Amino acid sequence: MARVYAIASAKGGVGKTTTTANLGTVLAMADHNVLVVDGDLGMPNLSSALGVEPDSATLHDVLTGDSPVSEAIYEGPAGLDVLPGSPALEAFAKAESTGLESIIPSLHDQYDIIIIDTGAGLSNDTFVPMKLADEVLLVSTTERSSLGDTEKTRQLAHRIGAETVGVVLTRVDQTNPNADEVASRLDAGVIAVVPEDSAIREALNSQAPAVLRSPDSIASAGYRALAEALIGQP
Ligand code: ADP
Ligand code: MG
Repeated sequence: MARVYAIASAKGGVGKTTTTANLGTVLAMADHNVLVVDGDLGMPNLSSALGVEPDSATLHDVLTGDSPVSEAIYEGPAGLDVLPGSPALEAFAKAESTGLESIIPSLHDQYDIIIIDTGAGLSNDTFVPMKLADEVLLVSTTERSSLGDTEKTRQLAHRIGAETVGVVLTRVDQTNPNADEVASRLDAGVIAVVPEDSAIREALNSQAPAVLRSPDSIASAGYRALAEALIGQP
């Protein structure tokens, strides 16, 4: 029975997709059987962060009933399985995230861990994965607006009865980590800190997760610490 995580924050551009890609890869490298799912139906870019190019079906086709889920799962780095989305606007118009309510449980027996990346905002596309998750992992930078939006996501999770495991602080300026601002804005514990690191941008540009491309980078160390905090020794 898989443990399901939803990676969430109402704020865009804070590192949700980067976190999903790197956390998934770290766990796969440690021989866990892991599936990452691109639940950002509007702006799916998880597969690109992992260097996976879906050449046939995507999650959107599964959601519209046009493909079985098995045809939309691709092998990513380190044996990680990836259920990508379609970048096409027409596909977005037709797909409904509520379909995940049957797709994710149908995969429970095949994986140890399922991680669902989510989009920005507080729509159904975030709500549905959070409801399906055993644990919601919040992602935020230390900027005031990001912390405020992430706190709203935490409140939504609480309201629908989803368990929040804590927040990953990303893009942290190590000379000014803004710890007071974090504590005053966010009613959730910090589970890991990922520093601002050019290795992340370089990895995205080369379509490989930083934990594989630049394992010695400070951001990669942050993602390994996150995996350890979540599931013990990854
Ligand atoms: P989201 O999924 O929340 O919209 P992304 O993971 O796509 O956010 O990241 C948004 C941008 O932030 C990307 O261009 C990425 O290069 C950059 N980024 C994310 N994490 C870091 C980091 N630790 N250091 C530097 N840049 C980062
Ligand atoms: Mg994203």
